[in-house]
Amino acid sequence: MGRTLRIVTPDDELKIDLRSDVTVELVKHSAADSDVLFAARVSTVGEQSLDELNKDPERSKGLINFLMRDRHGSPFEHNSMTFFISAPIFVFREFMRHRVGWSYNEESGRYRELQPVFYVPDTSRKLVQQGRPGKYVFVEGTPEQHESVHRGMEESYRQAYRTYQEMLAQGVAREVARAVLPVGLFSSMYATCNARSLMHFLGLRTQHELAKVPSFPQREIEMVGEKMEAEWAKLMPLTYAAFNANGRVAP
Ligand SMILES: Cc1cc2nc3c(=O)[nH]c(=O)nc-3n(C[C@H](O)[C@H](O)[C@H](O)COP(=O)(O)OP(=O)(O)OC[C@H]3O[C@@H](n4cnc5c(N)ncnc54)[C@H](O)[C@@H]3O)c2cc1C
Repeated sequence: MGRTLRIVTPDDELKIDLRSDVTVELVKHSAADSDVLFAARVSTVGEQSLDELNKDPERSKGLINFLMRDRHGSPFEHNSMTFFISAPIFVFREFMRHRVGWSYNEESGRYRELQPVFYVPDTSRKLVQQGRPGKYVFVEGTPEQHESVHRGMEESYRQAYRTYQEMLAQGVAREVARAVLPVGLFSSMYATCNARSLMHFLGLRTQHELAKVPSFPQREIEMVGEKMEAEWAKLMPLTYAAFNANGRVAP
């Protein structure tokens, strides 16, 4: 899942981009396992150089695991990761519910003209929801359902974007005209977090076989979460391993 489709509609002057993937780029970071150790050891042995902390990797690994297991969370906050994320607005609505340990800045629909980039699920996206809240399972869509979703979304997006353009052409303010645009429109933001707030996010917004408390996130926010997770795992491999080993519950 998550390939870029980039379809340009051929039969009309109005061009729109349809995407099935999301963009996640780590644009800035100061995040390492040694930051956790440094913060934790202040409480027992006072300030030490990071060189010294790196001398005994097994002990470092053990300490991080202990902190994770016993949910001593604050040492995991002394780091920072800034991500550039481009995803549909309905993903951002869910994302920005995460209030603690997160900072956001999103592109403005008042100060700039919104670009016609819209989300359509690709064929790997399970389309049919069965069951009841808390017990849903998702199953594959038929080719007909995929075709209908694709066609319906494209028509709707084009209609909405055409109306938006007409209003702008008549001199209507962007902040008013944007009301016609749907939540499948892509937006972009910078999101800054630390390892602790990211773990809390991942625990809720990804499905994982190692999760002690399963969650059932919408697939599209999970796609964002998976990409963030991959970046974070490279920066803080010991913390990442301890997170998985302890059931993916944020400390
Ligand atoms: C699968 C799924 C389905 C969802 N469905 C819905 C839905 O149908 N409708 C809906 O509105 N939302 C829904 N949400 C959003 C959910 O209710 C949370 O708003 C979101 O997951 C952010 O979680 P959080 O509050 O723990 O995170 P954060 O806001 O980052 O908070 C982190 C932690 O800080 C503490 N905290 C933060 N604020 C407070 C506070 N005011 N008082 C006390 N403690 C606080 C809590 O321990 C919290 O877990 C859903 C989320 C998921 C993952």
